[in-house]
Amino acid sequence: MALEFLYRQPVKIRFGSGSIRTLGEEIKALGAARCLVVCDRFLRSAAEAMQKEIPEIAAIFSDVEENPQLSGVIKAAELARETQVDAVVGIGGGSTMDTAKFAAAIAKENADALACFKGVSPFPKTRFPMIAVPTTAGTGSEVTQVSVISNGSEKKTINNPVFMPTLAIVDPKLTLTVPPRTTMNTGLDAMAHALEGYWSRNHQPISDVCAIEAVRLVLENLETAYRDGSDLAARENMSLAALLGGMSFALPKTAGSHACSYPLSEDYHLPHGEACAFTLDSFVRINADERLETLCRRVGLSGTDELADRIKALKRLAGLRMTLSDLGAVDLDKLCRDAAKHPLMGNNPVVMDERALRRMFEALA
Ligand code: NAD
Repeated sequence: MALEFLYRQPVKIRFGSGSIRTLGEEIKALGAARCLVVCDRFLRSAAEAMQKEIPEIAAIFSDVEENPQLSGVIKAAELARETQVDAVVGIGGGSTMDTAKFAAAIAKENADALACFKGVSPFPKTRFPMIAVPTTAGTGSEVTQVSVISNGSEKKTINNPVFMPTLAIVDPKLTLTVPPRTTMNTGLDAMAHALEGYWSRNHQPISDVCAIEAVRLVLENLETAYRDGSDLAARENMSLAALLGGMSFALPKTAGSHACSYPLSEDYHLPHGEACAFTLDSFVRINADERLETLCRRVGLSGTDELADRIKALKRLAGLRMTLSDLGAVDLDKLCRDAAKHPLMGNNPVVMDERALRRMFEALA
């Protein structure tokens, strides 16, 4: 078959330990006179310290929750309008960056957030420029046009060019304070992005190259970052892995383990990375083919069995939930039904209907 693909990555990326120091000059370079910083409570005092140094920071919104809600987006967008900003900066994990992306998309034209969330109104044509500054090494949200937002219990992944950040400042030093378990969850999220982008039905060569390197970096650095969070070299490599993981799935999109992660997060409250990791090694075995064997050999593994075993060992090391009994009382019918009908399941290279998913989950009993 002739090789054909369309690749684009419009985000300007500034990577390096200490690169957060460039935030002030980057805000000026955007032509912004006043900007809103979106963060979570953990980063409030750091954002206030930045405000003292960067006069363009006009307001700080620090009420972002994990699994961010649309209500938080609406409050952030209101603050942006009230304080008459002309740019938005999201400093935090995926929850924060996704809130900042959505707020930047709706605030300029005062769009109806709920109508945009539900897809009954299109997102406005113009939006504020947006700077994404990740403080976890996992989601890759800094280079994707995805925002994952919940309205009550409805968690939605919205994929729209309006969410593409203008600039990503990736400073690995900002991840030094991430606790071990979150380090593991987010690191396995990066691994899941790389593997799922690679085996997605829509995979393509440039994303594949990013995926292979991201998998190699996670395998070589996640355990060290987990055991010793102060190891800056491991943190740098994990920040790079997360960035490349984002670039691996940004165009091909994710597949089976992400489709399963939605009911696992919604009904059993697993954090996003842990929810993806729950089935990741199962999907490595299910999706094993010559392409995946090639990836394994390129990252120095003997094959797909070793890759699955290494993922399992990382989960076990951090005490992540791995079996159905770890989840408590499980409604297996609903879990399989919800995972099977999730749109991302259609991207999995092996067709996974409810019966196939039941077999997979029963093996995790
Ligand atoms: P998160 O943003 O929810 O943060 C997890 C926890 O880590 C929070 O308590 C936060 O306060 C803390 N934290 C963040 N940075 C820290 C630091 N430097 N030091 C100490 N603690 C810190 O977690 P996440 O895994 O980064 O993001 C998950 C969210 O991102 C989910 O909603 C998921 O669905 C979404 N997501 C989005 C994309 C995308 O492309 N937009 C991709 C994958 C996941």
